[in-house]
Amino acid sequence: MKKGLLIVFSGLSGVGKGTILKELMPMEDLNLAYSVSMTTRAPREGEVEGVNYFFVTKKRFLEAIRNGELLEHARFVDNDYGTPKKYVEEMREQGKNVILEIEIKGAKQIMKKCPDALSIYIVPPSIEELERRLRERGTEDEETIMKRISKAKKEMKDTAFYEHVVCNDVLEVAVQEVREIILNEMNK
Ligand code: 5GP
Repeated sequence: MKKGLLIVFSGLSGVGKGTILKELMPMEDLNLAYSVSMTTRAPREGEVEGVNYFFVTKKRFLEAIRNGELLEHARFVDNDYGTPKKYVEEMREQGKNVILEIEIKGAKQIMKKCPDALSIYIVPPSIEELERRLRERGTEDEETIMKRISKAKKEMKDTAFYEHVVCNDVLEVAVQEVREIILNEMNK
């Protein structure tokens, strides 16, 4: 059986990665499996252990690193995140295309270790549009908006490390584009 793909899926927080994945995961022909990460972050309301994340202590996280249980790991803001290796390998052996929804530092580790990984970065239509949406939403003060815009500008540079960059302007279009990228890679 052909080994499944390893798909690195990244993008700015709030850009709609989760919404795109929600549409893609049930598409049977894509044969996807979502890799659940390990994190030291506390669960947010509604998050379920083993579904959203495996929530662990710092001690357990360090043990996982020491034991070589993680395919990659990175610190993001004040917490640690990592991809459990076993699930990814088992799923790929079964021919499943595994999705890693991870940030850039982890993505770089994956691309180094697995040069055949497919990498996709989701961007907003433009910084101006992101700013417009933030202002329109009206939930953030000026300082927070500026911080988010500055982070967005930095993250836009990260797109250079990814094979594919998809703009999430119209959701259905972005979903279709990511779908085509995966199908194309599957048929190689
Ligand atoms: P959040 O705390 O909002 O769930 O996630 C914060 C960031 O960590 C997001 O960009 C998310 O994609 C990333 N992330 C989640 N799991 C992993 C992981 O296993 N490894 C890495 N490197 N990043 C992750």
